[in-house]
Amino acid sequence: MEKPVASITVLGSTGSIGTNTLDVLARHPERFSVYALTAARQVDLLLAQCLRFNPTWAVMTDPDAAKQLEERLGAEGSRTRVASGADALVEVAQDERVDMVMGAIVGAAGLPPCLAAAQAGKRLLLANKEALVVGGDFFMSAVRQGGGRLLPIDSEHSAIFQSLPEDPETWERRVEKIILTASGGPFRARDIATFADITPEQAVAHPNWVMGRKISVDSATMMNKALEVIEAHYLFGLPASRLEVVIHPQSIIHSMVQYHDTSVVAQLGTADMRVPIAYGLSHPERVVSGASPLSFDALTGLTFEKPDPRRFPGLGLAWAALEGRAGSTAVLNAANEVAVDAFLNRRIRFDQIHVVNQETLSSSWDGETDSLEALLALDGQARQRAASVVSAL
Ligand code: NAD
Ligand code: MG
Repeated sequence: MEKPVASITVLGSTGSIGTNTLDVLARHPERFSVYALTAARQVDLLLAQCLRFNPTWAVMTDPDAAKQLEERLGAEGSRTRVASGADALVEVAQDERVDMVMGAIVGAAGLPPCLAAAQAGKRLLLANKEALVVGGDFFMSAVRQGGGRLLPIDSEHSAIFQSLPEDPETWERRVEKIILTASGGPFRARDIATFADITPEQAVAHPNWVMGRKISVDSATMMNKALEVIEAHYLFGLPASRLEVVIHPQSIIHSMVQYHDTSVVAQLGTADMRVPIAYGLSHPERVVSGASPLSFDALTGLTFEKPDPRRFPGLGLAWAALEGRAGSTAVLNAANEVAVDAFLNRRIRFDQIHVVNQETLSSSWDGETDSLEALLALDGQARQRAASVVSAL
């Protein structure tokens, strides 16, 4: 029997995950059709993507960019319609013609459309970890109530998902702990005494992965791993005490699950995001991803080390936030978005990112986490708080 074509919205199609997603989709035109592509303001790239994939909708957050795109698509005779603004992102994520949504926007800005996709029961492929770190339990219950499926795209969480038994009911009972691997980023071996001199250019140059600027800085501070520990808690339901991080600089083992009998199940592969993307798109089947296979005879020296808390003080904030009161993970995420932006704009030093995160997390804040509006209000409050810490530095 022929498989029906699945219709997909790619939120953040011009980013690193977005372009990798389109690369995989282009390999399987008989399985997938593109319903909508979205971007913040990269007109040239979104135009090229629209001409290649012919989506029904293209959405740009920025209204001027949307206008330009509309004119240029019109001049090309394209039938793709253009919309702009945050509400339009929600529309194309929850539309009844959509089967799957790739959440590849960076930051909490991706929460409303990802949540809308979850509530509408879509298959949600989630790269946008900040959406889950902010949404937490509320997000996970929206997935359950929506009746759809949440498949992790973050390579570690895809690896963990692939290493867990099929039935989620058995995870808590069988699993001893989840071990997330981390590359250690570009400063794993740099003299800590020089961390104050790190420039944005140095911080975004990751040794193993080519990624967006924000996640690259997060990898350099290991705040990315802190966000991933929180993400793992919400996705897999294990308490913080059963989540561990090990540095594995070669990025070959993408993460592991240790069972009560001490047996460890891991997922391995080349460092290519098309692998977890293809897995999310085709699960439970497997389709060609375009990645090169591992060559075991060329693989030498897989190494592992404990993260040094003096080098990576931000990592511990994951456990602090998970053990803190509800909303702490949203506050930490907001602080980190503000801090990374301030660092990239040369307003604070690299080593001050942690100061902003820690001070914001331990400041007094107040808010609920039981609705999207409450979460956005908490996010806004924490951003203000973090901005005042930045100004005082
Ligand atoms: P990126 O910066 O390369 O791309 C971000 C995309 O989101 C772009 O299309 C951009 O136009 C859009 N965007 C940015 N701000 C927006 C806003 N305010 N509103 C609407 N759209 C907006 O980022 P990326 O590296 O592709 O990462 C995307 C997400 O995936 C992040 O949450 C990141 O943590 C996660 N992730 C990325 C990788 C990777 O290899 N790049 C791996 C794992 C997880
Ligand atoms: Mg990751």
